[in-house]
Amino acid sequence: MKIIQTPQELKEYRRTLHNKSVGFVPTMGALHHGHISLIEEAKKNNDIVVVSIFVNPTQFLKGEDLDKYPSKEAADKKICELSGVDLLFYPKADTMYSRDEVSVTAPDVRGYILEGASRPGHFSGMLRVVNKLFNIVEPSNAYFGRKDAQQLFLIEQMVRDFFMSVNIVGMNTVRESDGLALSSRNVYLSTDERVEALKISQSLKVATQMVIAKEFKALKITQRMREILEPLDVEYVVVVNRNFESIEEVEVDNTIILVEAKVGSTRLLDNIFI
Ligand code: AMP
Repeated sequence: MKIIQTPQELKEYRRTLHNKSVGFVPTMGALHHGHISLIEEAKKNNDIVVVSIFVNPTQFLKGEDLDKYPSKEAADKKICELSGVDLLFYPKADTMYSRDEVSVTAPDVRGYILEGASRPGHFSGMLRVVNKLFNIVEPSNAYFGRKDAQQLFLIEQMVRDFFMSVNIVGMNTVRESDGLALSSRNVYLSTDERVEALKISQSLKVATQMVIAKEFKALKITQRMREILEPLDVEYVVVVNRNFESIEEVEVDNTIILVEAKVGSTRLLDNIFI
């Protein structure tokens, strides 16, 4: 596995690949089976697989966990190597950003609702770095988790709005056997918090069962979910269509139910595509 640390070197390497298809998996490291599922899908459908590990400072708000974001450099390299990654891009922040630069921003509405309302500016920082990474790696296909559904939606929108050529692939959420969605931030949870956190996936499971039993009313579903989520500090429980517009009734094959809740001081996201 090749490891490259600067955008310039990666662009040079990219030129040598000519017409080979490139599958790209951008991450912030502390890799787990969720990341590995994206890598495996990229391996299936591309000649070359590139993974980036970059804890992007511009997507963290002041006071967030940028400085203590879990870092597992040696383990991550091993995981990439064992997963058959061809190239690992591990840049430093000063090679990725310059002062007073041109940048892309999140859209006014969908970039500032839900996760964007909890973390104003987060999605602009995320889109800035994904835009840069796409220009550096020039992927044929890029792989993202549906766990970060609003992020995936905004990346798809950026690709459309900027007439980019990359194909975006959204992948299902990988969970622990008890239902907890895998996340690099789960390491922040104490044993008790880990148990409390299960309420999030349980509430989504109940929501799915309600839809199967033909209860389509968003209000009924979110009320039941809130009962299950007690006493967690819930930031939002919403039912939206795949365009991130709020809806009163679930539309099968066009709905996402999203939850964001704080367990202790850890914010956890989860959702279900219906
Ligand atoms: P992160 O390192 O948390 O920025 O995540 C990198 C990529 O992995 C993003 O596209 C995430 O949506 C995706 N991802 C994170 N957790 C999971 C999971 N449990 N299952 C599938 N994909 C995930």
